[in-house]
Amino acid sequence: MRTILITACTMLSLSALAQNNQQMKPEETEVWEPVPKVITPGMATVTAPSDAVILFDGKNLDQWEGEKGGPAKWDVKNGAMTVVKNAGVIKTKQQFEDFQLHIEWRTPAEVKGESQGRGNSGVFLQEYYELQVLDNYNNRTYSNGQAGSFYKQKIPLVNACKKPGEWQSYDVIWTAPRFNDDGSLKTPARATVLQNGVLVQNNVELTGQTQYIGKPFYEKHGAKSIVLQDHGNPVSFKNIWIRPLNQD
Ligand code: MG
Repeated sequence: MRTILITACTMLSLSALAQNNQQMKPEETEVWEPVPKVITPGMATVTAPSDAVILFDGKNLDQWEGEKGGPAKWDVKNGAMTVVKNAGVIKTKQQFEDFQLHIEWRTPAEVKGESQGRGNSGVFLQEYYELQVLDNYNNRTYSNGQAGSFYKQKIPLVNACKKPGEWQSYDVIWTAPRFNDDGSLKTPARATVLQNGVLVQNNVELTGQTQYIGKPFYEKHGAKSIVLQDHGNPVSFKNIWIRPLNQD
């Protein structure tokens, strides 16, 4: 979930969409069925190959900054970074187009809250497209908002969650959307995601930027950051690396 401000929207269709979205309720874009089958995943970790850009090696947040620039104010301790409530999202200083990303995450061992309120964070690919991070071990929520989902767009193929307090991973193959000169969409974003080594998104096509309320839609952009969400829950991350792929 992330509020996206449209500051200079010149395209009529976009502003009409945005206006239509404002009249919708968040519940209207929740999809509760089918419920992905629960499976027990295996190993979660993959160490970085030699050509990867290391985004977080457990020592510091040098590769990251706050949403509006300035230092990233999350906690770094014991080789992990942890969300500090109200510190805001953090984003990579470097921007990316197509890439392979590995990131490990852990929801709190102490279970608090339910549904979207339990261990919620998110990995925003290119800032706008949320791959949900959530504790969905015995925690029902809408299927298109659970861990492994592209929030409110794509239900994961299975529920491959580990227990709260255990480290989990995402491996993402991301193909950025492309746009025409007039701002219209040329080709949509595509993604393949493995959660704990298990395929949860198989070369899916996204329909636009993640919206908490209303339907997703595209707005032209180029290379963008990886953003991690502050949803107020103390979710941790470690071993984050990325391999930028050929960019046109
Ligand atoms: Mg989230």
